[in-house]
Amino acid sequence: MAVPGGQQGDYDALYRSYVSLLKDVDHLSTLREIALAVNTSIELDEVLPTIATVVQGALEVRKITLYLLEESGSVARPVVARYGRDLIGKDRIEEETVHVKGTPFGDALSTRMPIVLNSEYQSDAYVPLLANGVAVGVLRLEDRVDGQPFSQEEAGLFQTVGPMIAIAINNAQLYAMAVTDGLTGLYVRRYFDLRMAEEFEQAKRYGREFSLLMFDIDHFKMFNDTHGHQTGDAVLRRFARILKDNTRASDICCRYGGEEMAIILPENASDDARALAEKLRETVAGFPFAGASGQSLHVTTSIGVAAFDVAFAGPEQLVGAADGALYAAKHAGRNRVELAA
Ligand code: GH3
Ligand code: MG
Ligand code: MG
Repeated sequence: MAVPGGQQGDYDALYRSYVSLLKDVDHLSTLREIALAVNTSIELDEVLPTIATVVQGALEVRKITLYLLEESGSVARPVVARYGRDLIGKDRIEEETVHVKGTPFGDALSTRMPIVLNSEYQSDAYVPLLANGVAVGVLRLEDRVDGQPFSQEEAGLFQTVGPMIAIAINNAQLYAMAVTDGLTGLYVRRYFDLRMAEEFEQAKRYGREFSLLMFDIDHFKMFNDTHGHQTGDAVLRRFARILKDNTRASDICCRYGGEEMAIILPENASDDARALAEKLRETVAGFPFAGASGQSLHVTTSIGVAAFDVAFAGPEQLVGAADGALYAAKHAGRNRVELAA
């Protein structure tokens, strides 16, 4: 059968499909690199910087900014960026929060397609992040490393990358919701149990130390009765904030139940744990909690401290020891720290 253009035509067609195949292979390896990287952690704080770094490298752009949609979906807030080799977290980001309507952000979200705006000086793309059809954010890519505009093929690549990233973010968001208590933002009891089991195993296997603080707010029933449940809730929220503000990121602050909180202190011996407990007790006692009409209110907390002991059969025994110490603190008059015997 005659082919238009004869042998030269065959050759050109073959060459074009060869080039296109090479591009496909390149795109596939880019996708694989991104897919592997974005699923290495379930923690949002780790997933977001990983996405910025890996996607920037894989898509070869100078600047990448990741925006997450706020609940209403009308606002996109920048949460992480990478400019060149500089990774920029939430607190250092200079980009503004965007009201998406009537902007390329909004266009990307409503058309569900990447929006590419190439100008003479700049290449600029907005990739909608859709997890199973639900918008979680927008990824903005600027300035290809080679100075070229974004091509149609790349827009197709972005279209595939978007959902991969969105699902990783969505998973991390769902996970965060599942393990955090809605009122206080502390970890829930189930997470506490999980982490206690883990820390216990680690301590046992590697001969590490670790400690546990258990808190119970003093006379909180009376506080509620006097000032109302809502003010009580506000105190619990603020109390949780005090715990977080005075501990390290690696310490695990949990809402054990009701007005009882717990902090797992990995690699902390009982002396350090006790000192921290004393500092927290004092901070709480001196803190002016806000009352409904702006007056300052005071609460105190009793704290039980216990450290890992190789003689313990399991984490329940460590919890039991901290609980016993907490009971002793109550018994001795409250607003006290007691160390398990
Ligand atoms: P103490 O611990 O000093 O022995 O006295 P208490 O009055 O704090 O002890 P108890 O355990 O009997 O009461 C705990 C109170 O905490 C009762 C409950 O209404 C209150 N509480 C538990 N969870 C919440 C909550 O989510 N919000 C509010 N506002 N109060 C709560
Ligand atoms: Mg209680
Ligand atoms: Mg109490």
